[in-house]
Amino acid sequence: MLLKARDIQRMRYKLIITGECFYQHRSLTHVVHFRFRFGLRNLNFVETNPKMGKVKAVKKYAEVKRRLSLKDSRIKKKDREKKKRKKANPENMTVRELPQASSALFFNYNTQLGPPYHVLVDTNFINFSIKNKLDIIQSMMDCLYAKCIPYISDCVMAELEKLGKKYRVALRIARDPRFVRLPCLHKGTYADDCLLQRVTQHKCYIVATCDKDLKRRIRKVPGVPIMYLQQHRYSIERMPDAFGAPKT
Ligand SMILES: [Zn+2]
Repeated sequence: MLLKARDIQRMRYKLIITGECFYQHRSLTHVVHFRFRFGLRNLNFVETNPKMGKVKAVKKYAEVKRRLSLKDSRIKKKDREKKKRKKANPENMTVRELPQASSALFFNYNTQLGPPYHVLVDTNFINFSIKNKLDIIQSMMDCLYAKCIPYISDCVMAELEKLGKKYRVALRIARDPRFVRLPCLHKGTYADDCLLQRVTQHKCYIVATCDKDLKRRIRKVPGVPIMYLQQHRYSIERMPDAFGAPKT
């Protein structure tokens, strides 16, 4: 380290003789003196802080993360360019179709529901009602405190007819003139799909069923209450103001 004479005079030195610390904070005259005494080779001096032990605050450069600007010469041209987005090819695009939200719904609140209630009746609902000796229309009114119109679709009717003689009572109930018949256009007599389709298209219905699987499927459709049998009476779920219904 090269030092100017003026600097040397201002500083104080730690004298080191053959690697060993000897005297601290001596002035230059002492350095010269020791040089003569111990010879040049054995004597080194190290600069110490003139302000007695205070450590100078050094700016730590490493702590600041530095980022190269895009104009920096170290960046290759390829990396410097901003990546352009590929224009989507309309031939390769996948079309996502989402079902249109029903205008009858205010979020999950169904504005089309209200007395008189339209109740889509399932096959097993009629059978369980007979087992529990419940009059369907009367029990529906007991549950909802309002006029209820039961609806029977062609496929439910066909299911009842298929069940045979044992269920002739159910068939006779379903033929009651107070039950409204709904014509079906689909093939086969599988009623679950039919009821589900009707309910997704028109939000005016309540579905009356005891079938667990159908209930699970209908719960996925927003705004459709489910009527079912519980404790020898009708109960309803997803109907906020059905205060007469027993708690589930
Ligand atoms: Zn049908």
